[in-house]
Amino acid sequence: MPDSSRPPARPAVVNVRSVSCRYGDYVAVDDVSLAVPRGSIHALLGTNGAGKTTLLETIQGFRRPAAGSVRVFDADPWSHRAAVAARTGTMLQESGLVDEMTVTDQLSLWKGVSVREDEIGRVLELVGLTHRRKVPVAVLSGGERRRLDFAMALWGDPELVVLDEPTTGLDPQSRRTMWSIIRDLNDRGATVLLTTHYLDEAQGLADSVTILDRGRVAVKGRMSDVLAAIPSRIAFEVAASPEALDELDRRVSGELGRIPAGGGDSGHAGESVTIRTPAPQDDVAAVVDWARAHGARLERFRCAPASLEEVFFELPSLAPGKAGR
Ligand code: ATP
Repeated sequence: MPDSSRPPARPAVVNVRSVSCRYGDYVAVDDVSLAVPRGSIHALLGTNGAGKTTLLETIQGFRRPAAGSVRVFDADPWSHRAAVAARTGTMLQESGLVDEMTVTDQLSLWKGVSVREDEIGRVLELVGLTHRRKVPVAVLSGGERRRLDFAMALWGDPELVVLDEPTTGLDPQSRRTMWSIIRDLNDRGATVLLTTHYLDEAQGLADSVTILDRGRVAVKGRMSDVLAAIPSRIAFEVAASPEALDELDRRVSGELGRIPAGGGDSGHAGESVTIRTPAPQDDVAAVVDWARAHGARLERFRCAPASLEEVFFELPSLAPGKAGR
């Protein structure tokens, strides 16, 4: 029976099916499939060398896959690169900025080569570089250079925006500015595919996620589904006897861990308790009932859903004792 709680699937702007990419004998991308529906934001994550950039290059038609198929706007980006590029704004890790040019001249150059129409003043305003328009690119800070790269990616409001680590090296304020520009672009209908090493960025921005681990898909799905698959976490500090804590362990359905608290600057003696639970509501109730029954005071109490960081650190290659290929 169809799931009526979900909206019907939108057509995919990017469709990657069973793609593998090699450098000689080395398999950098191994049988990867993913789809990015129109109007959504998709985050491609992974450790260094997981194959993200290789896959992005393949999606943009710079690289031909050794196996599998890639479709962007229903076309093969390798054989129809110009047609795909006309509808795609791209921000790579390494930019092609010309140091001697002013910011405005750089964008004038871009205006001359881009098939999309736009105004220099508009994009400078969007990325917050209007006040730097007359300075040479060479004197821009790292974050400002990134924003100029971004100005070229969003030139002419492309339907698809591909961003390879858009906020690496930016200060927290600039990262937030970048996030809000990405959201605005998406609100205006753009489909966004981005890579990032910042898990909070992916969690905050993306509707769906693919995590690559050594070239293979380790985790894939809607962000909400991916996060829901990992237990929530209840945590608190409490002064209680070992017997009382054993009793709490029996009362909750989740997995209870405890370590002595009071170290560092917490200033609280007792036990630091963490419960990883698939049933947070029931287990919060059980903890509160237990605390009342024992006259125990719960300090620093918190209950939070799993974060993408926890999902990430459950990857097989990052689990203790399994590093390396
Ligand atoms: P990072 O997060 O560090 O940017 P990534 O996930 O983007 O990494 P890729 O750059 O796609 O990873 O690289 C995937 C693997 O392929 C890495 O092991 C890398 O060393 C290897 N690789 C990348 N480019 C080449 C190349 N031109 N020749 C040989 N091997 C390469």
